[in-house]
Amino acid sequence: MNTQDYIRREDKFGAHNYHPLPVVLDRGEGVYVWDVEGRRYYDFLSAYSAVNQGHCHPKIVNAMTEQAGKLTLTSRAFYNSTLGEFEEYITKYFRYDKVLPMNSGAEADETALKLCRKWAYEKKGIPENEAKIIVCEGNFHGRTITIISMSTDPDSYKGFGPYTPGFITIPYNDTDALAKELEDPNVAGFLVEPIQGEAGVYVPDDGFLSKSYELCKQKNVLFIADEVQTGLARTGKLLACDHEEVRPDILILGKALSGGVYPVSVVLADDEIMLTIRPGEHGSTYGGNPVAAKVAIAALEIIREENLSERAEKLGKMFRAELRKIDSPMIELIRGKGLLNAIVIKPTNGKTAWDVCVALKENGLLAKPTHEHIIRFAPPLVITEEQLTECAEIIGKTIRSFE
Ligand code: PLP
Repeated sequence: MNTQDYIRREDKFGAHNYHPLPVVLDRGEGVYVWDVEGRRYYDFLSAYSAVNQGHCHPKIVNAMTEQAGKLTLTSRAFYNSTLGEFEEYITKYFRYDKVLPMNSGAEADETALKLCRKWAYEKKGIPENEAKIIVCEGNFHGRTITIISMSTDPDSYKGFGPYTPGFITIPYNDTDALAKELEDPNVAGFLVEPIQGEAGVYVPDDGFLSKSYELCKQKNVLFIADEVQTGLARTGKLLACDHEEVRPDILILGKALSGGVYPVSVVLADDEIMLTIRPGEHGSTYGGNPVAAKVAIAALEIIREENLSERAEKLGKMFRAELRKIDSPMIELIRGKGLLNAIVIKPTNGKTAWDVCVALKENGLLAKPTHEHIIRFAPPLVITEEQLTECAEIIGKTIRSFE
């Protein structure tokens, strides 16, 4: 089978809920992936920042295969010998009292919303069914009905109503709007991405997170950080909130918590919040299973052992400097933090960000447009300085070829 055969088969038998770049991947290692024809590419998407540790990191793969041969799933009807180890490890790692494990990012976000509402009724004293949660324009927290009810992107929500009530939307990066909405005594939480990834890598002003946190504290409102994409070293710190020394009341993690090997997500919080959910009130058959537990411990160990935060910080600065040297009218803007970066493309001669991504692919680098004119660049954090320099050259050469 060649590339076209694989694509035709997916098109015929799979739902059309994605629009992939026309490349069929077959193998991955570190920063590289290979297609079915044997061509090698730099992966500059990292599965939306799930593969921070690099493709098929041997330590994670070993942890998974070892555990897979021993015990994979017990459900939470019974205790098992690995969950406690993971819970102790991750709560000490992030300094929270407790963790609640799930699988996907969306599930962890849903969990955080439920926790916030439960806390609102049991601790804050908001009247039953009146709790509100503030969210930001341009947010992306996943694809469930409740999560798309918070979305301002018609592609996400249109055609899927009726929507879940209880959300207030404010502009991103706007602490005045936040302060105003916080006057409502029924507000229980503020859910925010420290950098809006899917929206196109929108980096808020310095001070936005710390000021927002302070405003929430003044009104006894939970500050909930969705670090599913920004967390785990991607932006140059372990958490993007660490850039402003903000400790979220509820922290949501996913994606790179497994290094791209297996779906693992978590919600972290202290007892006052976490213990408001009691047996039978929330859960997931696979959440916290033995394989997930071992995989996540290995993924977190790698972040420390290989200094991925420091690497992302240093290499990110270098990468943006290299991109800024590209002299092309097609580049409208370059923004980002650590190794979560984006360029905004000005369509030129009828050519868009999609065409740029197809040309990048031809030149050996895989990236994907988000929202038509934005291309995100998020390579695995194990990329070397030399590789990154080569990638900046590929990007420059490709963009200049459109002139
Ligand atoms: N939250 C954020 C910030 C995300 O970027 C994403 C996915 O891109 C999600 C949640 C949803 O994660 P998942 O696709 O694992 O459900």
